Amino acid sequence: GAMRHLPYFCRGEVVKGFGRGSKELGIPTANFSEQVVESFPSDIPTGIYYGWACVGNGEVHKMVLSIGWNPFYKNIKKSVETHIIHTFKEDFYGEILSIVMTGYIRPEKNFDSLDALISAIQEDIEEAKRQLDLPEHLKLKEDNFFHLPEGKRVNSH
Ligand code: ADP
Ligand code: MG
Repeated sequence: GAMRHLPYFCRGEVVKGFGRGSKELGIPTANFSEQVVESFPSDIPTGIYYGWACVGNGEVHKMVLSIGWNPFYKNIKKSVETHIIHTFKEDFYGEILSIVMTGYIRPEKNFDSLDALISAIQEDIEEAKRQLDLPEHLKLKEDNFFHLPEGKRVNSH
């Protein structure tokens, strides 16, 4: 299952998604490029994960992340999208997003209505917030992965 791949560390550029209107739902998701998605283990289960995320060399925040089938590519490629549990002043397309996935919540599901989808995501966010306060997950917030060596720092806005 998912657990044997965790914790999973990844760093890559935030690209434009395919406009499923995540932001309109109040749940923007920062998409990784196709190249970064291809670097994920091919057998990593689709579904909802949680963990920690940081934009550029900014603060480390809680996040929920979905690995799903990408409708833009007729569902033959995966997409990886991170919703950071933080309110940003501006969009951060083109910036480097660093993430660590530390836990798995559930597989992908189809929902009967938009309301059902939104409430499921709200529950995922609450579950992520609770789990990430546990020592086992909290410790990864401080991981060296988020503290880039001076020479390799990327500028954040
Ligand atoms: P797209 O289809 O381009 O991914 P979204 O509606 O999913 O569009 O919005 C994603 C963009 O919103 C991100 O790339 C990022 O620049 C911005 N954004 C602002 N706040 C957040 C947040 N808390 N988590 C993720 N992305 C955010
Ligand atoms: Mg998105």
